[in-house]
Amino acid sequence: MNQWVSQWQGVRQQITAIEQSHHRHPGEVNLLAVSKTFPAEAVVEVARAGQRHFGENYIQEGVDKMAQVAALAPELAHELVWHCIGPVQSNKTRQVAAHFQWVHTVDRLKIAQRLSDQRPAHLPDLNVLIQVNMDGGDNKSGVPPQEAIDLAQSVSALPRLRLRGLMSIPEPTQDPARALAIHQATRDVLAQLQLALPHIRPDVLSMGMSADLDPAIAAGANWVRVGTAIFGKRT
Ligand SMILES: *Cc1c(COP(=O)(O)O)cnc(C)c1O
Repeated sequence: MNQWVSQWQGVRQQITAIEQSHHRHPGEVNLLAVSKTFPAEAVVEVARAGQRHFGENYIQEGVDKMAQVAALAPELAHELVWHCIGPVQSNKTRQVAAHFQWVHTVDRLKIAQRLSDQRPAHLPDLNVLIQVNMDGGDNKSGVPPQEAIDLAQSVSALPRLRLRGLMSIPEPTQDPARALAIHQATRDVLAQLQLALPHIRPDVLSMGMSADLDPAIAAGANWVRVGTAIFGKRT
């Protein structure tokens, strides 16, 4: 079997085992396969095995890969769901709005407004997550948690966008208790958001990567974003 496919199966089994150990409902945690820096062939292999959702960080790379995947495997082109998980600059919003179905990294109203304005009329609403910076980490992306609710409220009022929840990328830590506490704090922000927007009930919590699946799922993640454990180390 293809290496990417066997590693993908291993990650799926790992997620199932973690769900069980934390008494999460089976199948509650969705897997986003992060294919950044890997070729279209890798996406096609894993997609043929059954994976549907793919995450890309770099907009141009993602858009090019979508076209390559469609050329290699036309039967898959309409099955796959692409998530933008990298920073979105103003000059990239048009491409994001035209090509992706999800954006995990909204942290400024201006970007959300542009995505809303630029979402093509023939496409369904764009699913968006507010990126929260829970630990003041180096990676300067994300709103501080105390600003997340206000931003989410403004975003939820924009046409052509559908506010689905929150995303976070905590700084890597060797301390499992700290990793768990940060993920739990993110879950608490989602609970506040649900109280603030009861008519929308955003319920997505995108957190957990190859190295911190266990604490993320323990804390309530329902989307995990996994690259390395499926595709291998990036160079
Ligand atoms: C690269 C990336 C991932 C995947 O990280 P791995 O450690 O390779 O699993 C997840 N989320 C974001 C935002 C990323 O940039």
